[in-house]
Amino acid sequence: DKAVKHVLEQLKYPDAFLNGLMQLYTYPEMDCFDEIEFLDGRIFERYSIPQRIGDEIVGRVFSFRDVTRRKQMEEQLLQQATCDPLTGLPNRILLKDRIDQEIKHAKRQHSKVAILFFDLDRFKIVNDSLGHNVGDSLLQVVSQRLKGCIREGDTLARWGGDEFIIVLTNIKYREQVIPIISLCQEALEEIFLIDNRSISITSSVGASFYPMDGTNATVLLKNADAAMYCAKADGRNNYRFYNPQMNAKAVEQLALAADLHKALEKQEFFLLYQPMVDLKTHKIVSVEALIRWLHPVRGLISPLEFIEVAEETGLIPLIGEWVIKTACIQNRRWQSLGLDPIKVAVNVSGIQFKQDNIVQVVETALAEAKLAPQYLNLELTESSIMGDTQTYIYAMNALKKLGVGLVIDDFGTGYSSLSYLKRFPVNKIKIDKSFVRDIHIDEDDKAIVQAIIAMAQQLKLRVVAEGVETREQLTFLQTHHCDEIQGFYFSPPINAKELGQMLRQQQKNGYLMRSNQDTIKPVLHKRLDDN
Ligand code: C2E
Ligand code: CA
Ligand code: CA
Repeated sequence: DKAVKHVLEQLKYPDAFLNGLMQLYTYPEMDCFDEIEFLDGRIFERYSIPQRIGDEIVGRVFSFRDVTRRKQMEEQLLQQATCDPLTGLPNRILLKDRIDQEIKHAKRQHSKVAILFFDLDRFKIVNDSLGHNVGDSLLQVVSQRLKGCIREGDTLARWGGDEFIIVLTNIKYREQVIPIISLCQEALEEIFLIDNRSISITSSVGASFYPMDGTNATVLLKNADAAMYCAKADGRNNYRFYNPQMNAKAVEQLALAADLHKALEKQEFFLLYQPMVDLKTHKIVSVEALIRWLHPVRGLISPLEFIEVAEETGLIPLIGEWVIKTACIQNRRWQSLGLDPIKVAVNVSGIQFKQDNIVQVVETALAEAKLAPQYLNLELTESSIMGDTQTYIYAMNALKKLGVGLVIDDFGTGYSSLSYLKRFPVNKIKIDKSFVRDIHIDEDDKAIVQAIIAMAQQLKLRVVAEGVETREQLTFLQTHHCDEIQGFYFSPPINAKELGQMLRQQQKNGYLMRSNQDTIKPVLHKRLDDN
């Protein structure tokens, strides 16, 4: 009849509904408890029992309840339990499930399963400097780009933080995954435009394979992780296939992080100093303090190997504070020896610069060393001061007021727009050594360096070129009125005592270099001539 027809028209499965209804009338003693779905998405719960008078069935009672909202909640909960809320990708739980399924499938097909473990390089720094919202958006775009690189049946999942997993099926031999890894890495290398900022990242990838590297999801994931770790350690933007020696290497890296915790109190750090030379006066005007770690077993370890570990493990503020204090004390000591005062430049990690107490740390270090603030410079890399600009400008102004100099390090590698630079109260910029390297042969590098020098002059900033290794480089920089140079050509980083001797020589002669117009080299420093 008309009423029934009206109801049926609204249902998702009208035939099933009708059949069910017929059944209930055919078997009057039956109970029923089920759900009815409507075309518009509503879901009703239906409960029906026979109506009895005494032992006799006289009819049937129906009760309906709209459970749409509850159903939605349930679905959402299931979704939340198995999917990552930020990217909508499967999470760890669902991923392990999928891998185990694929393993069963591969067993029957005698094929392989590949697990690719992706980790974004330096994501923590982007996240800390640009803020979590930008970090989140970046991860969303990353997931979309990766998704675009895989086939329909493959799985992309978020493992956590900046880690993603790709599961590839129907693999016959391992090399098959290499083009897919390249595709993904290239997709991530393209500049990300987020919040009007361009961000560039790279990724490190580790791969493990069923059945060679493990027969269950847990082991395969662990081994892909170890391979990723090795890829990262061998230089970023890399990939590695798992091999059994890798776990040993990963353990070693963890040990490094653990040792780093003890290195400060065990006094295993020391500083070297590399001079910067004024190209007009030919005198050392400042030195850069560069940290070294003398590990009791592994020997000398470069900051390139441990600064990032220190940043990731949260140790950098403590280490950085030690560097500032030590450099201030050393600079004061040279002055106490009667040497002409110079500036000491200290590298400050972006993470440390973000600490609330950075101004106080600097103030205390100066006070304890009794060093006047104009003899301290802080070097900040371009990329570490982008992002939370207001906070940085605030700290920079406070430091400037204190009388400390601020230097932009590695200039040219990041966001070197003029307008950006204008906003910061900096005194000096340092042209990154990558531009200096080919300055005498590469036309692009020539143009860039000239432009940076011109820009610095316009803004009344001093400009230093780092990584100067040859006469040719020096000549170019002199011709283009660069203010200062730093590099192996003049001197590598040396210890405090050697530097003191160099300063004494400079003071005695009134100049430091052999003044025959041929060369700018320290008279004293033999090591350089030996090389
Ligand atoms: P940086 O600030 O760019 O320091 C300059 C690096 O270039 C130093 O490497 C220096 O030894 C090297 N160098 C100097 N002259 C030349 C040259 O003529 N040619 C070439 N190819 N390289 C040259 P180092 O000492 O290994 O330090 C590496 C990086 O580690 C530094 O790069 C800096 O970012 C970081 N670092 C060093 N000390 C500290 C520190 O105390 N705190 C923090 N946060 N970072 C530090
Ligand atoms: Ca530096
Ligand atoms: Ca630099």
